Amino acid sequence: MTKWRLKCTECGREWILPVSFRLDEMGKIYHYCPYCKKNTFHIVLGKVEDEAGDPAPREEAPNLEE
Ligand SMILES: [Zn+2]
Repeated sequence: MTKWRLKCTECGREWILPVSFRLDEMGKIYHYCPYCKKNTFHIVLGKVEDEAGDPAPREEAPNLEE
């Protein structure tokens, strides 16, 4: 699964969202921010390359379904 680095435009925090969508084609998405705890606009900063042995921050990834 592809992981994307998103930046919340409200709190400015960056976090990783693992989804198979091509978010880079959208540029900006409206999504739930785990820090703001509400839906905000996010800038898609880019794809995160998989690194072996690097634990993914999977627990903090919010569910896409609403
Ligand atoms: Zn936020």
